[in-house]
Amino acid sequence: MTIDLHTHSVVSDGTDTPAELVVNAAAAGLSVVALTDHDTFDGLSEARTAGERIGIEVVPGMELSCSREHQSVHLLAYGADPENPALAEEMVFVRDGRSGRLRPVLDKLAELGVPVSEEEVLVFVGSSPSVGRPHIADALVAAGHVRDRTEAFDRFLADGGPAHVARYAIDVGRGIDLVHGAGGVAVIAHPWGRGREQLLPRPVLAELVAEHGLDGIEVDHQDHDADVRAGLRQLADRLGVLATGSSDYHGTGKVNHDLGVNTTDPETYARLRALIVQRAGAPGR
Ligand code: AMP
Ligand code: FE
Ligand code: FE
Ligand code: ZN
Repeated sequence: MTIDLHTHSVVSDGTDTPAELVVNAAAAGLSVVALTDHDTFDGLSEARTAGERIGIEVVPGMELSCSREHQSVHLLAYGADPENPALAEEMVFVRDGRSGRLRPVLDKLAELGVPVSEEEVLVFVGSSPSVGRPHIADALVAAGHVRDRTEAFDRFLADGGPAHVARYAIDVGRGIDLVHGAGGVAVIAHPWGRGREQLLPRPVLAELVAEHGLDGIEVDHQDHDADVRAGLRQLADRLGVLATGSSDYHGTGKVNHDLGVNTTDPETYARLRALIVQRAGAPGR
């Protein structure tokens, strides 16, 4: 049983349609795949239908854009009810904030001598309900200003970069509460990737578990080296939370994130499933 719990389709910033992603997951030998597009559930029904057709289990997921101390923190939600009003309302704010910063980012890029137009960006948005930095990065590539998304982030778009503009995000503790309120399971995504170790040190992760009931930590991720993985695994064990592994696949949008490159062990997945079932039956959902 091969399980990958973090992937993106064209419904956010990946390059496969949800159905293509599920077909590719099966071809890569996965038996379980979670679709976790950024701040939207829009791809789930297509993915689920494809999963039923080809006989691979699709876990309904979503990656919620959160923050701590004005810096970006991602929270994976599994099994949350897309119709939950409190969560759905916050997701609208996040998506509007992302799309709303397109203009100011484009202004900064023009000032920096690498202009792209709104139309040039919109070509890459696919069926995503909001316009994110990866789509802007794609336009920079197409215009010949940079070689790939990575260079676009490194030179211009990364947090704190010269063309970065902050946007609305949800405090991570509140994000966990919202996911739980919607009957979901909350796993913090790549917590120590890209310099976030300072932002989410051990005591902060421990506090998220103690005060908000964080359910798990994504341990095996390409943004984590071997030492980071070992440290996080030990922490997850000590805190008694799930230690997941996943690819964070984005199709051709992210290199070195192939489906199944990291996986979650079946025993951990069984615990996650049990939590989803337990929450779905809980009152207040
Ligand atoms: P946004 O939601 O518009 O702020 O963009 C967030 C997206 O950009 C997520 O998909 C991240 O995976 C991606 N991203 C953030 N920082 C970087 C980076 N330094 N290099 C490549 N992708 C990044
Ligand atoms: Fe992404
Ligand atoms: Fe992420
Ligand atoms: Zn992701």
